[in-house]
Formats: sequence, C-alpha cells, structure tokens
Amino acid sequence: MQTITSPNKHEGRVAAIRAIVVHTMETGESSNVAENVAHYFAKRSTKASAHLCVDNNSVVRCVSDSDTAWAAPGCNSDGLQIELAGRAGQNEAQWADTYSRDLLELAARQVAAWCKKHNIPARRLTRAQLRAGQRGIVGHADVSAVYKRSDHWDPGPKFPWDDFIRKVRHYLDGGSPTRPPKPTTNKPTDWPDFPGRHLTYRPGQPLMSGADVTAWQNRLKAMKYTITVDGRYGPMSAATTKVFQRAESLDPDGIVGSRTWRAAG
Ligand SMILES: [Zn+2]
Repeated sequence: MQTITSPNKHEGRVAAIRAIVVHTMETGESSNVAENVAHYFAKRSTKASAHLCVDNNSVVRCVSDSDTAWAAPGCNSDGLQIELAGRAGQNEAQWADTYSRDLLELAARQVAAWCKKHNIPARRLTRAQLRAGQRGIVGHADVSAVYKRSDHWDPGPKFPWDDFIRKVRHYLDGGSPTRPPKPTTNKPTDWPDFPGRHLTYRPGQPLMSGADVTAWQNRLKAMKYTITVDGRYGPMSAATTKVFQRAESLDPDGIVGSRTWRAAG
C-alpha cells in the first residue's frame, strides 16, 4: 500500500476506535483519484484528511489508524475514515459500473481488515445506534445527521450498502477476492504535483504559461478534446476546459482548480 502522509491530523486518539466512516471524494472516476486526493490531503492548507483513499486500483494511506484524521466532525475521535472515488450524487447504475465495482471490492477488503483489527462488527449502524455509541460502519451522512456539525451527505442515498456489507463479511470470513484488482496505470509523465496552480484565463491579462499549462493541454488532447498544445492558457484552452468540466459535472468556469485537475488525473 502506498503512503502519502497528511499533516492534517491529531496525534493519537482521545477515544477508542468504534466506527468506520465511509465517504466519497466527489471526484470523477479515474485510476489516479486516490493518489491525487492523498496529495491534496498532504497539503497543510487543506485542513482535512482521511486514513485511507481508495480508487479502482489502489488504496493510499494518509493517516495511521492510531492517529485522528479530520473527516467527519462528531466521529473523528473514535472513527476510521475511508474515502472512495466517486460522488454522493451517483445513482444505482453509476455505483454498479465496472469502475465502482472494482473500487467497492478494494474498499470492502480494507474495511474487513479494519473490522478484524479493531474488533468492529461488520454491520451498518442505524443512526440511533451511532448516537448510542455502538460499534459498526456508517456513512458521513449518518454522522452529519446525528452530530449536526456538517452538512456532508456522502456517500449518498444510492450507495449500495447491503452489497457492500455483504462483501465486507465475505472478506472477514476469509473469502478470496471476487474481482481481480485492476493493473495500475501510470499517470501522464508530465503531470504536475497535485493540484498545482489554478489555471485561469483573464481577457486583457498576460496569459499563464508553463509546464503545468502544457501538461493540462496534453491531458485534454489525450482525452480527445480539441486543443492546441502551446503551453499558454488562452481563450481556447479555457473554452475546452469548460467543455471538459461540463462532461465531468463540474462547475464550468474554465478555471483549472483542484477539482478539475483531480477529475482529469
Ligand atoms: Zn465525507
């Protein structure tokens, strides 16, 4: 397992671990999402973290189990936080696509390992059980509803809980992987440190230029978007970025910020 350490944590624990909290990273589906989000958590300015980030081919460790990650206020001190690639808004079909099935398989193996190590029953807690301090697995939405310190609703109402808990039990019972892990695909060699600068086009201002602009244009080109790779972030780059952002259900502002970098990674 790769480790990309986050400074955003409290050393140690003030309470015993009793809950596993499932999140979505609010990203597109690509094989670099776990690494990209882990790099994002590695920045002090992010002021957030999780123990693990998972995508369809990797699990990345950001915070050790013995330290307190900052992910779900109300359930940080006694929780283990796992971030999954994808969005809370996914429907049933989107949770059942190949990418998500690979992702859920990896996540279930990890959650089973946690259940075993920390003696947590492989069951989803009701909100009443969470409130009562019982041990089990919950979503960030449950933590938000019970402790009312956040409005995050991930992993969303269509997250396949029954199927997921079944998979966790399968691994807890010593079952072997039901889906082979995907081979790791490398990100583009010229991909900058995530998330890099925010690339913006402002009419009348000098154009932004540099290796990150070239990397971004190359990435769009590799994804078959119409773009000239000239290392300058001009009106055409911004327009093509908007097309990409619409396709990824991002805010189509033409600015390559952290979410947009992440979605393309
Ligand atoms: Zn969350």
